[in-house]
Parts: sequence; structure tokens; C-alpha cells
Amino acid sequence: MQPLIDYARSFRQQTAARPEAFARLAEGQAPQALFITCSDSRVIPSLITGARPGELFELRTAGNIVPPYDPEQPTGEAATIEYAVEILGVRDVVVCGHSHCGAVGALVRGDDLTAVPAVRDWLTHAAPRADGTKADGDPAIADAAQSHVLAQILRLRSYPYLARRLDAGQLRLHAWFYEIHTGTVLAHRPPADTFVAHPARPVRAAPP
Ligand code: ZN
Repeated sequence: MQPLIDYARSFRQQTAARPEAFARLAEGQAPQALFITCSDSRVIPSLITGARPGELFELRTAGNIVPPYDPEQPTGEAATIEYAVEILGVRDVVVCGHSHCGAVGALVRGDDLTAVPAVRDWLTHAAPRADGTKADGDPAIADAAQSHVLAQILRLRSYPYLARRLDAGQLRLHAWFYEIHTGTVLAHRPPADTFVAHPARPVRAAPP
């Protein structure tokens, strides 16, 4: 932990090198997308996308699970999604699953989670795919985690204010899958119902 503390203490020195850039952030935020992914420490949205401060609004949950829409029982996750869409007006929402996901692994294996009841109860929110596809096999198998991502996309479509924007062509949903062992980002292509690598295009330099 100490290296992290030391870095945080010295971070101010980095902002001093670009005072205008940081001062502009105080004026407000207009993120390009809502990025929903797992809490896993190996998945870093800004690293994957090259996003700079102010460009990604993030929701991180165990297993990148989107809870069911329930206006009677608001959750922190629902509040984050609602704020991103209704207030910040994001027009793109990414759900990014990943390989070697502990949560998906627990679901696939049917692990006994008695010792972690909050995790156990949270994972009950994992929604099955509408086509009835069941995830099985080894948790490292990409199919299980990728099906899980698509289930969260379907869950988002059940949020009324998201459905309205989708129907009006004002919102786009993106299903991504990140291979933590290769650094490859795959995107779901609906026509083929498969995840494929993003085609290489010129990109801006990653933030320092
Ligand atoms: Zn995970």
C-alpha cells in the first residue's frame, strides 16, 4: 500500500505541470460514455480506452452485473446509470466483461458463497440470456463471461428510460470483453452474435 500512498502524495506535482487541464475539470463533466465493468483490479477502463479525466463515467460492480430495474428499491448502481443518462446525457453505454472473472467463475462453478453472503446475494442478480443459453464449463472459458456480458446488455434494455432512448436512436449499447492475459478488447457484433477484436485504427497517444 505504501507505494500507492506515496504516489498519491506526489500526484499534485503532476497536476502542477498542466494546471489549465486540471482547472478545466472544475467547470463540469461531459463524459463520452458510461463504462460498466467489473471491480477487478486488472481491468482499468482508462488504460483500455485511453480515456482522460472527464471522458468516462464509470460503474464498477462485482462481475459487471447490472441489477434489475426496480424503482421501488433504488440502488447505487441504478443511481449511477440514471445520472449518466438523464443528467449527463451520455449517448453510449459500454458493458465490458473480462476473462478470468472471479464472479463469473463462481456463477459457472456454483461455488458455495456462504462465507460471503453479500457476494452470494449480489450474484443472484446475474441475468440469464433471453435465448436460454447457459454458461458452463471452466470459468476461464470466454463463452461464459461473454454470454454474461450480453445478459447485462439485455438487463439495461429493460430500464425504461434507456429503452426509450434506444428506440429513438439516441443511445447505443456496446458489449465488450477484455482479455486480461493478452490486453485484447473484443466487441460483440450482433449480426454474427460473436465477439471479435476491434479493428486496428489510428489512435491518439495514451495519457501519460
Ligand atoms: Zn470480474
